[in-house]
Amino acid sequence: MQKRAQVILKTKKAEAVERFHPWVFSGAIKKIEGQVANGDVVDVYSNKLKYLATGHYSNGSIAVRLFSWGETEAGREFWKQRMKKAWQLRRQLFPDPSVTNAYRLVFAEGDRMPGMIVDVYEAIVVFQAYSEGMHKLKSVLVEFLQEYMGERLKAVYDKSPEMLQRQNGETSQNGFILGEQESAVVMENGYKFHVNVAQGQKTGFYLDQRDNRRLLFDYARDKTVLNVFAYSGGFSVFALAGRAKQVVSVDSSKKAIGLAEENIELNGFPREKHHALTMDAMDYLKEMNEDQYDIIVLDPPAFAKSKHSRHNAVQGYKRINAKALEKIKAGGLLFTFSCSRMVDRRLFNDTVMAAAIQTGREVSVLHMLSQPADHPVSIYHPEGAYLKGLVLRVE
Ligand code: SAH
Repeated sequence: MQKRAQVILKTKKAEAVERFHPWVFSGAIKKIEGQVANGDVVDVYSNKLKYLATGHYSNGSIAVRLFSWGETEAGREFWKQRMKKAWQLRRQLFPDPSVTNAYRLVFAEGDRMPGMIVDVYEAIVVFQAYSEGMHKLKSVLVEFLQEYMGERLKAVYDKSPEMLQRQNGETSQNGFILGEQESAVVMENGYKFHVNVAQGQKTGFYLDQRDNRRLLFDYARDKTVLNVFAYSGGFSVFALAGRAKQVVSVDSSKKAIGLAEENIELNGFPREKHHALTMDAMDYLKEMNEDQYDIIVLDPPAFAKSKHSRHNAVQGYKRINAKALEKIKAGGLLFTFSCSRMVDRRLFNDTVMAAAIQTGREVSVLHMLSQPADHPVSIYHPEGAYLKGLVLRVE
């Protein structure tokens, strides 16, 4: 077997690794001893040649994604143990599949498997690797799932190519690595959702809003609710489940609006209680009447995908929040979110505050929201906390 390459860090660059931060940036590397290819397992050493950690090498600005701070072979059993830990947490979180059977089984750094996302939709599993090193582990994952899910497992769909493609210019396509079922009806807190893993956005569904949709349920009774950036209607379903008087879903994607309507019907809510509009969010917020809504949900896509677009993203968040805050009924609630990794909680709060200042209304924070427990955050990797939300009461 070829000897593993050794990645030697520059002076002072060992500190972050010693604090268990799982990323080594390419700029921190002094030199690499031995042959290394994208996806290889490498050992990382300090400038003084002290062993620090082991990880997957990538050709990118994150050059090594670390998964062990002790020397390891990182063989199949090592990875199966990690997957087992992730599995055990989800069994604890979702003991009853008739209540919730759609969840994130592996959340990258949060499950000490940096670069790997695995979502379970009842009998279908979606695998999404952000690194070649993790992509190579797909057969281990399939073996693990077969062992733990048994007969229940119908298909595993690999959505990594669309992620990896961008990084390496490859042309491979998403596809099944087991079975070929692409859609399922899943349960989230007792309500049904139709999910198509191949056609849908992300891995098919926004699992990360589960707890926040449930919170909306608690507030929705007899309220008129606007759900902007609705996608497949997650918040709309929970508003109607919580007995909202009227719900309007807005999304610029016609396909998304189709899904939202399907999910409203799937749960048997009266048709006349829901209106769905294929429309730009800002256009709608500008056109709608004042005092039309008691509750508004704003869950935009990640406006900032890189540091360069952060400024424009912040302006975008500010504009939509200002419009919603300006027009919501007195005593109304705004559920507002950002899933952009480039905008941290502080910047998000400041942005929403700036929007509030613009309207001059009295605004108080009732809840600070984040991602659910199946999206755990390693304490050493605060960047893993990407979903931020606020529930504001507006007078
Ligand atoms: N709240 C949803 C997830 C929203 S994802 C849920 O709980 O499932 C963001 C959505 O915003 C996507 O469906 C996307 O189609 C939509 N979108 C993106 N740009 C938009 C725009 N300018 N106006 C309206 N919708 C937009």
